[in-house]
Amino acid sequence: MPKIKNREKTTEQLKEDLRKTREELAIQKWGLEKTLGGMKILVAELIQKGKDVENAKAKDDALLESIGDGVIAVDMDGKIILMNKSAQEMLGWHPESMVGKIFHDTVAIEDEKGVAIPIEKRPTYLVLAGTTITTGPTYQYVRKDKTKFPVAIKTSPIILDRKIVGAVEVFRDITREKEIDKAKTEFVSLAAHQLRTPLTGISWIAEIFLENGRHTSKDKNYIKDIIFLARRLNNLVEVLLNVSRIESGRIGVKPEPVDLVEFIGDFLREYKAVGEMQKLTIIFIKHPKKLVVVTDANLLNYILQNLFGNALRYTPVGGTVEIVLEEKKNSVIFAVRDTGIGIPEKEKGSIFEKFVRASNAVLTRPDGTGLGLFIAQESVRLLGGKVWFKSKEGEGSTFYVELPIISEVKSGEVGLIGNGHKI
Ligand code: ADP
Repeated sequence: MPKIKNREKTTEQLKEDLRKTREELAIQKWGLEKTLGGMKILVAELIQKGKDVENAKAKDDALLESIGDGVIAVDMDGKIILMNKSAQEMLGWHPESMVGKIFHDTVAIEDEKGVAIPIEKRPTYLVLAGTTITTGPTYQYVRKDKTKFPVAIKTSPIILDRKIVGAVEVFRDITREKEIDKAKTEFVSLAAHQLRTPLTGISWIAEIFLENGRHTSKDKNYIKDIIFLARRLNNLVEVLLNVSRIESGRIGVKPEPVDLVEFIGDFLREYKAVGEMQKLTIIFIKHPKKLVVVTDANLLNYILQNLFGNALRYTPVGGTVEIVLEEKKNSVIFAVRDTGIGIPEKEKGSIFEKFVRASNAVLTRPDGTGLGLFIAQESVRLLGGKVWFKSKEGEGSTFYVELPIISEVKSGEVGLIGNGHKI
């Protein structure tokens, strides 16, 4: 019987059982300690990591709060996930009341004229949709109390595992810059106006003097030089006035029916003699018989004068300048193509900016202002069109202008001064 058998275990056997049991217990205890030790390390690591994360977060928060620019981050649904103190101060909203809300439902954004920007054209939306934005136009934000302020916005996507998961928008109140810009424009306008009157007087007196006096041919040439230089100065003054009129948004658009074929044809006839003098071949090619658009003739003339004037100025003797007119479904494209000096690759990006002149142009024609293309581009914009170019240094350039068949009326106190003719 087992019980009796157990009882019958010798002392030696019992001692052996006890030793084995102790060993097993020791092994189990060691295992537990090991596990516990491991867990302790893990927990310690976790705590450290937590601290690191907390530290990093505290640092990020401090950094974010100290930034003078407004920062707002949104997720893929456009929900605000983060907003710093500067953004709160600028917009008049408290971050806690903003986080979790849809950005575009909460903060309204408008263009410079106060027209609301539709959701799909808002910078954050464009970035979430995968469109790259570097610098945008000037917008204005509407505060909680419905007052507005102009902002410069920079937006970039938040990318995780190569996927866009949100967007960060950094913005700055540019009220002060706008005021300085306005003051500068007003100063240029005032100075240019003041210059105009004496200049007209100089030209007028010199012309009378030339016609009425008895002069040697040498003196006549001097007087002609005075007239030419006064005219050039007047041209420069007009260009400056046009820039200030554009920048202050005072230019109106008065569309009327214009037959482009006739318009360009008449325009080119005026340049026939200049072309012959400069030994340039001027051609008007590939155009329909009649192509009527409803546009502002003053602005159109300025655009054409500038692009065509440039083609003539930057094309050496023996070259060709041609105008190509093409009809599209809802627009027209005219291109001014030349076989001139072209625009160097690295200078192409800024060529429409104010006062920008390419290095090769400065060498061949030191007398330019770098303002013509700026005025032309703004005029095209006013007509609701766009302008772009293709060019290769040493081979030539083509400037394209696409205009809508019908341009919209825009109220404005003034038009462009002068005819845009480059002297
Ligand atoms: P400007 O001709 O008075 O310098 P614009 O604003 O009209 O000013 O042109 C800016 C610059 O663009 C020019 O200085 C020149 O470098 C370049 N450019 C414009 N049109 C042409 C062209 N047809 N060929 C070569 N360069 C051109």
